[in-house]
Amino acid sequence: MDKTEKAKWVEEFPILKQIIEKQEVLWKNPLNGDSATGIAQSGITATDVKDASERLKRFAPYIAKVFPETAKENGIIESPITAIPKMKEALAPIYETVIPGKLLLKQDNALPISGSIKARGGIYEVLKHAETLALEHGLIKQDGDYTKFAEPEFRNLFAKHKIAVGSTGNLGLSIGIMSAKLGFNVTVHMSADAKQWKKDLLREKGVTVVEYTDDYSKAVEEGRRQAEADPLCHFVDDENSLDLFLGYAVAGERVAAQLKESGIEVDGNNPLFVYLPCGVGGGPGGVAFGLKLQFGDNVHCFFAEPTHSPCMTIGMMTGLHDKVSVADFGLDNQTAADGLAVGTASAFVGKKMEPLLEGCYTIGDDTMFELLSMIADTEDIRLEPSALAGMTGPIQVIRNGVPLADAPSATHLVWATGGGMVPETEMDIYYGIGKGIGRK
Ligand SMILES: *Cc1c(COP(=O)(O)O)cnc(C)c1O
Repeated sequence: MDKTEKAKWVEEFPILKQIIEKQEVLWKNPLNGDSATGIAQSGITATDVKDASERLKRFAPYIAKVFPETAKENGIIESPITAIPKMKEALAPIYETVIPGKLLLKQDNALPISGSIKARGGIYEVLKHAETLALEHGLIKQDGDYTKFAEPEFRNLFAKHKIAVGSTGNLGLSIGIMSAKLGFNVTVHMSADAKQWKKDLLREKGVTVVEYTDDYSKAVEEGRRQAEADPLCHFVDDENSLDLFLGYAVAGERVAAQLKESGIEVDGNNPLFVYLPCGVGGGPGGVAFGLKLQFGDNVHCFFAEPTHSPCMTIGMMTGLHDKVSVADFGLDNQTAADGLAVGTASAFVGKKMEPLLEGCYTIGDDTMFELLSMIADTEDIRLEPSALAGMTGPIQVIRNGVPLADAPSATHLVWATGGGMVPETEMDIYYGIGKGIGRK
């Protein structure tokens, strides 16, 4: 993008000036509209999501068998929703903003197997691929006993097949762990910013890790190129995968059931606000879509991005989607928030979100770290930096006068996207950084 073009965009969208200055901003999406129309336009239906949900149920006995930590939930990989009243109280004086509604945390950091939101889409896509192969080879019927996926004939079949993915870390963990468990020959292409402990852990599980000195987009591109040349290789395409999206979308019905069970109503008088950390967009996009299917216009979804990597904000605002990168506006895409260091958003997701997303906001790394130590102190919950991106959501919407945001009847659900796999020593460092930044 040349200088005149950039200046033209800034003139059309003055908020870009603040974004370029790396300020924390809230952008309201002018295309957000009626949910039913938006869902119809997406080309994805409730039946597609139901189908994904049913597939996960078919695999549940297998999951319970090979990942014993999931046995108590009968092999359904789900995380709790936790009220965080002490955090809510602690936020008020710091941000000089009171949240009159309820503040809840969706604890995807506690998701079994890979400790992040990627356990939803990533594991789903691998399972679907395994099922497709097993059906094709006549090893299983859909009403059969799926614990058989752990048997040698299945593993021998999968050993002849490859799975590849490009990742900044967490997607690699989910795909790698699940694929290796099934017996696939799996390669994770990792960007330069991926943490050493993630690479070590994957190698320990028998995953091939290829390292790149470049950023995430490069790792994805290279992984895709190598996979395309091999007909026995399935490439998990984080930027364009319908299966990943559907795996994430199953969260909608699960959240609906959990809220119902806790007696929390969502309707015209009781709005639900959800804040989702966004990297390339598949995770938050899929979850938001699933929530829209459940709650329609009564759920208000916002994506949260680092001030250095607001790719979805810029992509949706300009309508350029994957034809624009944060670098076009002079941003360096440097952030400690794993999974969010993405310079170019998925157009597949951005376009689907155009009529369904209420807005996006940005958050600085310092703020994420400060919130990280705050929630550890107040609620004894340990999250990774990116998982805190959702936490300023309630403050942002209330301060910016988003309708109903300050209603006492509102429920604010902050999606804590990860942290469960972070080694304690690493977590202690994060915590220390947050304490150093703390304003108190
Ligand atoms: C991947 C990830 C996200 C964002 O998901 P995308 O699909 O990349 O948008 C958010 N938080 C964490 C911890 C992640 O790993």
